[in-house]
Amino acid sequence: MSNLYAALRAGFPADLDRCAIEALDAPGGPLRYSWHDLERGSAMIANLLLSLEIAPSADGVPPRVAVQVDKSVEALMLYLGVLRAGMVYLPLNNAYQAAEVEYFVGNAEPAVVVCAPRNFGWISRIAFNAGAEHVFTLGEERDGTLLQRAAAQPDVQEPVARSADDLAAILYTSGTTGRSKGAMLSHGNLLSNAQVLKDYWDWQSDDVLIHALPIFHVHGLFVASHGALLNGSPMLWLNKFDPRAVIAQLPRATVFMGVPTLYVRLLADPGLTREACSRMRLFISGSAPLLIETFKDWQERSGHTILERYGMSETAMLSSNPCKPQDGARRGGTVGKPLPGVGIRVVDDSGKPCAADEIGHIQVTGPNVFAGYWRMPEKTKEEFTADGWFKTGDVGRFESDGYLVIVGRSKDLIISGGYNVYPAEVESFINELPGVAESAVVGVPHPDFGEAVIAVVIPRPGATLDAAEIIARLKSGIAGFKVPKQVFISPELPRNAMGKVQKNLLRDQYRTLFA
Ligand code: ATP
Ligand code: MG
Repeated sequence: MSNLYAALRAGFPADLDRCAIEALDAPGGPLRYSWHDLERGSAMIANLLLSLEIAPSADGVPPRVAVQVDKSVEALMLYLGVLRAGMVYLPLNNAYQAAEVEYFVGNAEPAVVVCAPRNFGWISRIAFNAGAEHVFTLGEERDGTLLQRAAAQPDVQEPVARSADDLAAILYTSGTTGRSKGAMLSHGNLLSNAQVLKDYWDWQSDDVLIHALPIFHVHGLFVASHGALLNGSPMLWLNKFDPRAVIAQLPRATVFMGVPTLYVRLLADPGLTREACSRMRLFISGSAPLLIETFKDWQERSGHTILERYGMSETAMLSSNPCKPQDGARRGGTVGKPLPGVGIRVVDDSGKPCAADEIGHIQVTGPNVFAGYWRMPEKTKEEFTADGWFKTGDVGRFESDGYLVIVGRSKDLIISGGYNVYPAEVESFINELPGVAESAVVGVPHPDFGEAVIAVVIPRPGATLDAAEIIARLKSGIAGFKVPKQVFISPELPRNAMGKVQKNLLRDQYRTLFA
């Protein structure tokens, strides 16, 4: 029996009355949930889902449960309840509006949809049109029909038997490079990754995690929640990220996980000090590149070295900077080494392995790598090599001692006048210039060069930038073919709901610049 819930449950402490989650900003809170509460609440939800007696799809896939709700501990219980019922969890970003929800629900054909009470009108219409059988609501204040119905269910439940290859979740990718794809993750994919991270990040019996990430994405749902549950560690839970609230909890915590923008926002608060961080054991960053400047500022201000790791919806975590000293040092600007059991290779266009420091396509294999994209067999076939490695779409290089550096995405690679230009390299030069907060470098069609390099540059608050001066400075620092032909100063970069820069929108915006 390999139901992921059973494996997580085995990690709970012997004394189930201890606090599992302290929901700090819950309405009417703070609220304390014991391990017993998690076990019982998820059992009642599983029993409710099973009582609906939904038949699997014609192709034998268990029913999908699509969920678009605000973050809450009950939403985590819903995830655990879906696992226990042997159904497939399908979380949706709560920023998604009608057109997006319509696409995901139409694509995944869930039998059950759970939404926020305020969205019931439009989401139930979309859900029933797409063939869903049940629509429940779950609100931030423990309100809605899901919990009402679950309350009448028994609070014990034996997790439904599942094999390692059975589907546990469909996670839609962030849609940074185009339309989101549904990554099919099995019980085995998720458990293997959680177990590897438990050891590699050296989870301790007295660890306490600050959970301030959304739970519709691989980072908050799998990496953070599984980590704490599998280790039986309490979580200090924030439904919404607030730098003040996180800083206030640091003295009670040992582990924090964030995306780079969270670190930037924490650094902007004067309350972030060495003293506040003195009990902390580990700060982890991922989901997007951590600027070296943030890495250094954090070292200085907190006295801790951020551990940066690399992963994606399709694979969960792939590589990590070391945690234990015997595994090596944490190196800024790199995403560390392949996790135990994970294979990572960097290859050239013909599939030949690159030498150290040579840039190429990143391909991966391992027990954590997904089975394919939901109902996209052609796309799935394209993204795997003949020998079964997954093409991540990321471009990078290995340093001679095995640390992986991500230099960008293959879709963002610019070929100008026959030369390869890696946007991340040019961006790092621009970001070093005085007054620059951040930048995005993209290629746009050009009659002579094929593609021309252009840059969108965001000034620091209060700074004024001059496009011509930026170009002049770059000319004296990097090769001419890498220097942007034009620089645009802009107040902000287009980002998607996960905070990732959407370069496809910039390319569209400037498509006709040289036409
Ligand atoms: P889509 O696949 O729909 O275009 P996405 O790739 O952004 O969207 P996710 O699965 O959420 O969707 O993100 C995975 C990607 O995030 C990776 O392929 C990589 O490009 C990026 N990423 C994750 N961690 C890091 C990191 N530490 N440094 C740089 N990039 C990272
Ligand atoms: Mg992707």
